[in-house]
Formats: sequence, structure tokens, C-alpha cells
Amino acid sequence: MSSDLPLRCACGRVTGRALASARVFRIVCHCRGCQAYARWLGRLELLDDAGGTDIVQLTPSQLRLETGVDQLDCVRLTDAGALRWHARCCRTPIANSLAQAWAPWLGMPRLFVDARQVGADALGPVRFRIHARHARAAVPGGHPTGPLSLILGTLGRSLRDAALGRARPHPLFLDGRPRVPARALTEAERAAIGLGASTQLVVRRAPARGCG
Ligand SMILES: [Zn+2]
Ligand SMILES: [Zn+2]
Repeated sequence: MSSDLPLRCACGRVTGRALASARVFRIVCHCRGCQAYARWLGRLELLDDAGGTDIVQLTPSQLRLETGVDQLDCVRLTDAGALRWHARCCRTPIANSLAQAWAPWLGMPRLFVDARQVGADALGPVRFRIHARHARAAVPGGHPTGPLSLILGTLGRSLRDAALGRARPHPLFLDGRPRVPARALTEAERAAIGLGASTQLVVRRAPARGCG
């Protein structure tokens, strides 16, 4: 990727840029949490034919929001799940983050990249296809959960990014707190998107495996 990525929600109120001065890392996640989130948003175009979400991993300092910050909203699929940030105006997903402002990691769904200006090939290759056991179709090269190399690689990059201060500035936190309180979905909301009690453990563990 050689230039900054223009970012835009579907209606255009939230815009920004992903700075390409450092690397991005692209994965596709088929976990139940990501699939349920697309249903909750009502944005099924977020998912590919196998139910995968195309996610660009980057550091908070690479994500710059330029307009529409007042449209930020945030939910968690479970009480301990990742923070899933989206645009209130049109329910476009913006990024998944951990709950701590110091965590130098974001997972930005490709849907937030302005596809009118940037094609998928500008994001580099998909490095991993994870949680393929939950996919709705065969995923060539997919890993049933998350490969150890991805977990260790993410951990290693996060340690380096933390040491280099790449968690700041954080576009989604202010004074160490989320810009918008993160609301956990209710039991009824979870049930409506297919997240029964038996899937909660999977969702809760998802961030540590790389999808957020
Ligand atoms: Zn919008
Ligand atoms: Zn996922």
C-alpha cells in the first residue's frame, strides 16, 4: 500500500484517512461474532459469500477521523467483548478496538474504506482467513480457528507498536476513555442475531485471536 486510504461511511457523514506510513495487515474473519455484528448492523454486504469480514489491522495512530466524530457509536456483543465502533448515521462499521486506550491495535472493516476511490488490491494480500470452521462455505487456505503464527505475530507487533507509542493519538478515545460509552447488547438483541449462550465464549475470546 503506497498511499493513504480514504475512509467514508455509506452516507458520507463520517470520513477520515488511514495513514499508510506504517504497515497494515489484512485478514478475513469468519467468527460468529463478526457475522452476528453484520446482522445487528443490518449491513450484510459486510460479509463475503462464506460469511467472512474483510478486516484491515492497523494502529490507532494510523486512523484519522476528519468529519462526523459526533456520529460515533459503540457496542459490545458481550460484556467483555471488543468495542465495535460504527457510524450511527448509516450503521457503517468503523473499527473494532480493545477496551484499553493504550492497546495499539484496531481492526477496521474494509467496508469503511471508500471503495469509490480504492480497490481491495490497494490493501495488500489477505494474510489469514480465520475461524473458518464457522464459515458458510469452503474457505481455501482458511484456518479453523486462528493460527498460532497470527497470535504470536499480533502480540509481537503490538508490543513493538506500544513501545513506539503508536496507540496515540487514538481517534476513538478521549482522555483514556472511549469517546462514547460502550453498550453491551441485551440478551434479546443477542438472541435476535443468533448469539445464544453457547456462542458467547467464542465471541469473548475473539479479540485475542486477531479479529476483534
Ligand atoms: Zn453515515
Ligand atoms: Zn471475528
